[in-house]
Amino acid sequence: MKLDDYDKQERFDARVLSSVRITPEDADAEVREIVFEVNRPDFDYQPGQSIGVLTPGPHELGHDEHFRLYSVADTPALTEGGNPQITIAVRRVSYIDDYSGERFAGISSNYLCDLKDGDSISITGPYGYAFEVPEDKDANLVLIGSGTGIAPFRAFIKHIYRDIGNWRGKVRLFYGAHSGLEHFYMNDHRDDFALYYDEDTFEAFKALSPRPNWADPIAWDYCLEERSTEIIEMLDDPNTYVYLAGLEDIRDELDRVFAQMIGSERRWARRRAELVAGGRWTELLY
Ligand SMILES: Cc1cc2nc3c(=O)[nH]c(=O)nc-3n(C[C@H](O)[C@H](O)[C@H](O)COP(=O)(O)OP(=O)(O)OC[C@H]3O[C@@H](n4cnc5c(N)ncnc54)[C@H](O)[C@@H]3O)c2cc1C
Repeated sequence: MKLDDYDKQERFDARVLSSVRITPEDADAEVREIVFEVNRPDFDYQPGQSIGVLTPGPHELGHDEHFRLYSVADTPALTEGGNPQITIAVRRVSYIDDYSGERFAGISSNYLCDLKDGDSISITGPYGYAFEVPEDKDANLVLIGSGTGIAPFRAFIKHIYRDIGNWRGKVRLFYGAHSGLEHFYMNDHRDDFALYYDEDTFEAFKALSPRPNWADPIAWDYCLEERSTEIIEMLDDPNTYVYLAGLEDIRDELDRVFAQMIGSERRWARRRAELVAGGRWTELLY
C-alpha cells in the first residue's frame, strides 16, 4: 500500500517519555529507542504492526505534513497513568539525491531522533496486520530481521515467550547488521534477547557484513549456510513459519541464499510459493 493511501484522519497525541541512543557513539548508524505515552486509552496495537508519524511542515515540494511508518518494538504496555505506551527504534537516515548528488537528511527519522523528553507529536494507526502466532505451540518459527527490522521481532519474541509461554517449536532468529556495533539489540552492552536464551527452543544468530566500513551487503550466506541442515529440515516441515523484516533489499539477497541452500532457483521459487500459499511466509519489508 502507498503511504498516501493510509488513513490518517484519526490522530493521537503522543508524549516522549524517553529517547536513548542504542548504537554506541562510535557506530556509523545512530539508532534511538523512543518511548511514547499516547494520550488516549483506546490506542491498541500488536507486535508486527506499525504506527504513523506526522512531521509538521511546511516541507519542500509543498507537502504540509510528512508521513512515515515505524514498527512497534515492544508488546503493548500501559504507563503508570494507565495510558498506552509505545516503543519504537528509529535509525537516523540521510540519502543522496540521484540528480544533484547532494546529501539530504531524512525528514521523519531526524524529527524523531531530535525529540526531547516531554515533547509531543502526532501519531496515527496502528497499521498493518499483527504478526500471526501459529495456534500450535509446536510450530517452528524462522525470523530474519536486518537493521531496524529487528524491532518487530523484539516485540514478537517477547510475546511468544512471555505472553503466550510454553512454546515448544524451534524459534530461530537471524539478525543482520553491517557491524557488531549496529547489532543494537544484541551486543556486549545490551542484549534484549538474552532474556530468552534459557528457553530450550530459542536460538539467535548474527549476520554481519564481511567488511563493515564498506558498503558491502550483509553476508547472509555465511550465517544461514552454516546452519543449512537445520534450516532445510525446518523448511521441509509443514509446521514451520517464516517471517522477514527490514529493508526491501534483503528479499533478493535471501532468495539467492535460499536457492543456493535448497539446490536451485526453481526449487526455492516453488518452496517459497508453497510457504506463501500456506500463510507460512510473512514479510514486513520497507
Ligand atoms: C511498515 C514500515 C515499518 C517501518 N519501520 C521502521 C522502524 O521500525 N524503524 C525505522 O527506522 N524505520 C522504519 N521504517 C522506515 C520509515 O518509515 C522511514 O522510511 C524512514 O525513517 C526514513 O524516513 P525519512 O522521512 O527520515 O527519510 P526519507 O526521505 O523517507 O528516506 C531517506 C532514505 O533512507 C532510506 N531508509 C529508510 N528507512 C531506513 C532504515 N530503517 N534504515 C536505513 N535506511 C533507510 C530510504 O530508502 C531513503 O533512501 C518503516 C517503514 C515501513 C513502511
